[in-house]
Amino acid sequence: MKLIRPLVAKLDPYVPGEQPKISGLIKLNTNENPYPPAPAVLKAVKAAVDGRLRLYPNPVAQRLCEKLAALHGCEPDNIIVGNGSDELLAMLVRGFTEPVPAGAKSKVPSSSVVQYLWPCYSLYPVLVAIHGAASNPVPLHDDFGLPTVAELRKGKAWDFKAALTFITTPNAPSGRGYSGTELEALCQAQRGVVVLDEAYVDFAESNAMALALKYPNVIVARTFSKAYSLCFQRVGYCVGPKPLIAALHKIRDSYNVNGLGQVAAEVTLANLPYYRANFKKVIATRERLARQLTQLGFEVRPSQTNFILARPPRYPAKLWLEKLRDLKVLVRWFKDPTVTEYLRISIGTDAQANALLKAARKILG
Ligand code: PMP
Repeated sequence: MKLIRPLVAKLDPYVPGEQPKISGLIKLNTNENPYPPAPAVLKAVKAAVDGRLRLYPNPVAQRLCEKLAALHGCEPDNIIVGNGSDELLAMLVRGFTEPVPAGAKSKVPSSSVVQYLWPCYSLYPVLVAIHGAASNPVPLHDDFGLPTVAELRKGKAWDFKAALTFITTPNAPSGRGYSGTELEALCQAQRGVVVLDEAYVDFAESNAMALALKYPNVIVARTFSKAYSLCFQRVGYCVGPKPLIAALHKIRDSYNVNGLGQVAAEVTLANLPYYRANFKKVIATRERLARQLTQLGFEVRPSQTNFILARPPRYPAKLWLEKLRDLKVLVRWFKDPTVTEYLRISIGTDAQANALLKAARKILG
């Protein structure tokens, strides 16, 4: 007897960026924030480590929801917190799409379709495969720009009735930002649920949170991981219409957000000026690094995030990855044909940017 479901047996799992244990390595491969959490956050988390660890945390992260609601000008019922936004992305797939019905061969019904503009966050196709739904990846423009609704209608591949649509905005892995106007047009044209994944939005010039509070089918996903230096704690959240958020609560694990994560995120929200100063530092380093890499012959794509996508000169990107690694600088390279000629480089401190530039100069001789 087979012990593992065929769907699981043939699944290609998500491959996260490497977490190597090499001393002195400069790690610019997973878009972590180079700056630590605010001192008050560290203090609060340490103070919470006592006998209370035996207790369950608040099942819905109530206080955090209230603070997020105040921040975004909505009500706690418009918010759900997750164990990182990754957990919520999985719940969105489970909550709003049907697995492909047995026997549906040629035409998959829209109720089973999850679509996205590719390239984007490479976890989405994995989540769809796990659920047994169908992915509909439609290409972004060559410069990673969003197609217009008219272009999507003409192209035929896009499903305006897809149960779920993910848009990574600003885009990952390209870093490109999208305007509220173009995102709104897409949201309006879509009959199913649209998720705007704003994991990197704090490093951008604008955000689309208003759309989640305006349309009955739009949800914005955010995370404390990147901009708020809390990858380790695993806290993300979605903002959206109350009926959709209530549906997600029904399929949530009972205590999905760990207690220390809740404490850390709450205190983070009381220290926003500290983080806003960090965003400015990251953006300044990003712009300088982009300029200097361009001078070295890299083709750097415009970025509204805490990483840049850069096509390196002289050698293929994969060889650059290896050469940089030999010089103790770790960046990310993707096999996917749309970005395979590029390196994705997370923005670290100024000193880390200098080390990367030094390594690049060395490679170029
Ligand atoms: N969305 C995007 C676009 C991401 O790159 C990531 C991080 N890999 C996430 C969501 C998930 O972040 P987390 O689970 O840490 O909140």
